[in-house]
Amino acid sequence: MTCEPWGDAHLDSLRQSLVYYANQLQPLGLATGTSGNLSVRAVLGDREGMLITPSGVPYANLQAADIVPVQFTGSGTASWDHPRAPSSEWLLHQAIYQARPEAGAVVHGHPAYATVLAIHHRSIPPIHYMIAAAGGPTIRCAPYATYGTAELSHHAQVALEGRKACLLAHHGLLVLENTLAKAMWLAREVETLAQQYYMALTLGEPPLLADAEVERVVKKFATYGLNAQSG
Ligand code: 13P
Ligand code: ZN
Repeated sequence: MTCEPWGDAHLDSLRQSLVYYANQLQPLGLATGTSGNLSVRAVLGDREGMLITPSGVPYANLQAADIVPVQFTGSGTASWDHPRAPSSEWLLHQAIYQARPEAGAVVHGHPAYATVLAIHHRSIPPIHYMIAAAGGPTIRCAPYATYGTAELSHHAQVALEGRKACLLAHHGLLVLENTLAKAMWLAREVETLAQQYYMALTLGEPPLLADAEVERVVKKFATYGLNAQSG
């Protein structure tokens, strides 16, 4: 596909945003150490691609220059020319950009409560209306596959159908959104839902909202925060 390459200034500001949000993962309780990774969609030269955090670099040491530009060369194939290796989950991020045109950013972390549920292969049911922020009445848990594999990408794609978030069994949380700021916000909201579900379970199986009610909230969220008088 031929497309207009993004300018250096725009790419630089995206690199800065990735560093900024990568440094929020730990304070927001979304990741520890070098776990987790972030990316944004980008057009690099004449190809679709992404800017992604490098593999295994502690967030406190991360510089804009460490962010790896990855060009997509096909389905599940990519190339990069950078001193750092892209996140070991680059296949997972790429698969989301290739399957979901609305995805502008992907956030992956290992937050405690979402991961505890994922260890038990539990999806999050409609315990609270905020689940609508992820697109529907459940946040599914994808079956386990080794990190960084095409199998994990496949399981995640299926679990993300009609949704913007899923859990990854024995691993963590995965979120897509149209911007990085929104993806980070949604990741934190899903971790809050996971915590609420975990705590509600201590009093027994909680009652649930009806799927139709969650779908109603999904529709309401489409205009949430917009000024109704502006047209
Ligand atoms: P990277 O440091 O390679 O991004 O890996 C972290 C991770 O969470 C793998 O799932
Ligand atoms: Zn991970």
